[in-house]
Amino acid sequence: MAELWIATGNQGKLNEFKMLFNRVPIEIHSQAELPVFAPPPENGDSFLANARIKARALKALKSKQWALGDDSGLEVAGLNNLPGIHSARYAGPKASDSENTAKLLKMMQLKAMSSRAAQFRCVLVAYDPQGQEHIFEGFLKGEIAKAPKGTTGFGYDNVFIPEGQTQTLAELGLAYKNRASHRALAANQMIALLESSLGGEGLESKT
Ligand code: IMP
Repeated sequence: MAELWIATGNQGKLNEFKMLFNRVPIEIHSQAELPVFAPPPENGDSFLANARIKARALKALKSKQWALGDDSGLEVAGLNNLPGIHSARYAGPKASDSENTAKLLKMMQLKAMSSRAAQFRCVLVAYDPQGQEHIFEGFLKGEIAKAPKGTTGFGYDNVFIPEGQTQTLAELGLAYKNRASHRALAANQMIALLESSLGGEGLESKT
């Protein structure tokens, strides 16, 4: 079976990708299975640049397989789209999810923002076994809650209320997230490509 190698060390994201790609006949693997893989510095200036950095680093080790890099984050309109590409490290280089969320709520309170509008954005960069690059993007619009609520998911899920909903992503749960999220929308585009590419494919060579 063909293999898809995902460049992420984030277990929450990996769980979501595994569920999303479940309907495709492809084996999912991640960088954690490669002891020699050193995660590259994410020093790009955009989601696309960072997703590409991650995908290329993994493709270098798995040249004959599909390799996927994902970069995603939260953009809050009233904060000039911050935390954006800094979402994982908003409250500092080793910040936890709860520290990042606390900083976000504090910044919004300090600015006494009238609008709490925000969106999640996800950019995927995939290299196919022939080395061709494919780019996919998904958004989830919504607003930031006044306080964290809910227990599922990761990152800012417990303060993000999707448009048309009254609960946070962390209350709505993974089934909702995997239907509606920025990552699901981007992954669905990639799934369409995988389905057409894998159509008649037999066993892939292993590298
Ligand atoms: P990355 O691993 O460098 O792409 O960092 C992504 C960061 O953005 C995560 O650590 C979260 O803080 C945030 N983020 C991205 N996607 C989501 C999501 O689906 N839910 C909650 N937070 C997210």
